Amino acid sequence: MSESARKVVILGSGPAGLTAGIYAARANLEPLIVHGPQPGGQLTTTTEVENYPGFAQGIMGPELMDEMRKQAERFEAAVEQKLATKVDLSSRPFSIWFDDEEVKAETLIIATGATARTLGLEREWELMGHGLSTCATCDGAFFRDEEIVVVGGGDSAAEEALFLTKFGKRVRLIHRRDELRASKIMAQRVLDHPKIEVVWNHHLVQLVGEKPRGITGGILENVNTGEKTEIECAAIFYAIGHTPNTDLFKGQLEMDSNGYLITKPDSTKTNVEGVFACGDVQDHVFRQAITAAGSGCMGAIEAERFLADHE
Ligand code: NAP
Repeated sequence: MSESARKVVILGSGPAGLTAGIYAARANLEPLIVHGPQPGGQLTTTTEVENYPGFAQGIMGPELMDEMRKQAERFEAAVEQKLATKVDLSSRPFSIWFDDEEVKAETLIIATGATARTLGLEREWELMGHGLSTCATCDGAFFRDEEIVVVGGGDSAAEEALFLTKFGKRVRLIHRRDELRASKIMAQRVLDHPKIEVVWNHHLVQLVGEKPRGITGGILENVNTGEKTEIECAAIFYAIGHTPNTDLFKGQLEMDSNGYLITKPDSTKTNVEGVFACGDVQDHVFRQAITAAGSGCMGAIEAERFLADHE
């Protein structure tokens, strides 16, 4: 075992990475937890989290992540903000580069999460947070009695549209095909809901609105005829899926066709011994804070056992 190598490096500081950090730190493995571009992960863009066990009255997403980070630091995990730019997993200790800085690791726990997809329309980044959102749970309550639009046709879009009916006076679901991809039960709930109107066979091709007021509408294009229509709304929610943050590992770790890291059944082990993956980077099904945290715990325990076996 290389003397200068860290025993455990954890990439990512969402619930998966920080839980892995808490467990690894309590096992005296002195982990380094690296914050990526979004310290705390996706929960930092959420408002109230009501389904994380242990908080009967709910807890704000950023506060929950702050507590998890402090809990890891209490056991002397090092938490640093830097961006991993390259990894070499061909032999142990593994190398992880942060621009010119190289860190060696006996084990690597990948918890880099996933990022919500966007459509790539003009002025998207200017209007994000100003009527444009990728998270209904975070932003839905700002649009009480307003016209709301959701883009997408999968389970996320169905779930977001149903959730947004609590607030909006009408929710229009814009889908590019004539059939929902969502599971039958979710699709049926959408179709049966009196406040939801599905606009079939349309693409959202332009955002209408300016800061500070934000979104005031959008332009839709009929995929069959090319005809364009302008609609009015106060909010547009993208729900067109997520992309796992795995570019760094291409060619080195096994991934599925959507880029999610493949882990062995009932385990966080990847195809490279000593490299573990937990949270949304390897889970496109559950995608919950609690499941991410659970798999982070598994990752740390598996890293600890791996180190014990290789000492
Ligand atoms: P998804 O199943 O991949 O669906 C993405 C949807 O967005 C599809 O309807 C797709 O259209 C549409 N889309 C993608 N790119 C688009 C673009 N550029 N323009 C317009 N539309 C676009 O993603 P997801 O809904 O996030 O679900 C991901 C996974 O999580 C699934 O396995 C899902 O079952 C699971 N999930 C489950 C639940 C639940 O059970 N409660 C909730 C959320 C997610 P097409 O249909 O034409 O491809």
